[in-house]
Amino acid sequence: MKRVGIPRALIYYKFFPMWDTFFKQLGAEVVVSPLTNKQIREKAIAIAPDEDCYSTKIFFGHVLELKDDVDFLFIPRFGSKHKTDMGCPKFIGLADVLRSMFPDLPTIIMPHYNIAKGRDNKITFFLKALKVGLIFTKNPFRLITAFRKAIKVYKQHYEDLIINLDTLTEWEARDDFHLNAKPEKIPGEKPLKIALIGHSYVINDEFCSLDIRKKLKNFGVNVITSEQIPRSIINQQLSILENRLYFDFEREILGSIMYFLEKESVDGIIHLMVFGCGPDSLVGDLAMRFSKRMPNIQILQLVLDDLTAEAGLKTRLEAFIDMLQRRKEINAVNIPVLRVP
Ligand code: SF4
Repeated sequence: MKRVGIPRALIYYKFFPMWDTFFKQLGAEVVVSPLTNKQIREKAIAIAPDEDCYSTKIFFGHVLELKDDVDFLFIPRFGSKHKTDMGCPKFIGLADVLRSMFPDLPTIIMPHYNIAKGRDNKITFFLKALKVGLIFTKNPFRLITAFRKAIKVYKQHYEDLIINLDTLTEWEARDDFHLNAKPEKIPGEKPLKIALIGHSYVINDEFCSLDIRKKLKNFGVNVITSEQIPRSIINQQLSILENRLYFDFEREILGSIMYFLEKESVDGIIHLMVFGCGPDSLVGDLAMRFSKRMPNIQILQLVLDDLTAEAGLKTRLEAFIDMLQRRKEINAVNIPVLRVP
């Protein structure tokens, strides 16, 4: 059985259920690199180009972890799935960079997919998937079935992940409704609600995010993530920008921040940023500008890299949560706090 290696980093967190289904239906064995750990990070930092963002460096570590155990590496050159806006250019170049840096890597399967610039569509997507599938089987029935099942799984994954407007409204209105792991202990009468915003490959990577989701849960916080926000809300928020944002994945980040600043339905926002990320620095700056115009909801921006210390992050989180808790208590007894008109 042919073994396909999939690095557990970057767009793995967007598309893995689809890829996994596709390759397994074709009869391949899917091998995913382990959860990010210290060893992967150290390998990554030692060999990745210094200029790369932390998330890309981590990707290098995952590839090195897999390379000796698989026949193929699957590293698609992903341009975009939005009709005008692009993904990060790093996703397009990664496979080529890796191949040139490490000539002994297994064969890299690297289809290019780009709606915005490559004019890809459903038909070209299907044809590109078939081309990949032919590496594993020549059986047309099996190829088509694998493609159909993969798309179905992908759609279901996003239906499960992204909540609808009614669910969001319910979450905003109720204190006892949780979209993510429910905290065991909730300090005070009302739990804090926090929007955790960032790239899916950061907020879902326990090691890279220093397990911030678990820390928030231990603080008794009711969390919603940017991944879960209805797309209609994100599109609506971004439609007020004078200029198009251009980066597809950043739409989710900025749109979510703008929504919660305006709606004031959370107590605070935590924006996880990646050191060395160009799109993040652009969106981080825009977020702070919006925050100055709508200052009633506090934003904590945390920049993550290999030098981010767990103790430092915990202290900043504690201070932020303490501040939000005090504001909530003051509001609860109707003592007026300074609110900007
Ligand atoms: S969007 Fe930012 S964090 Fe993600 S790969 Fe590109 S530069 Fe890195």
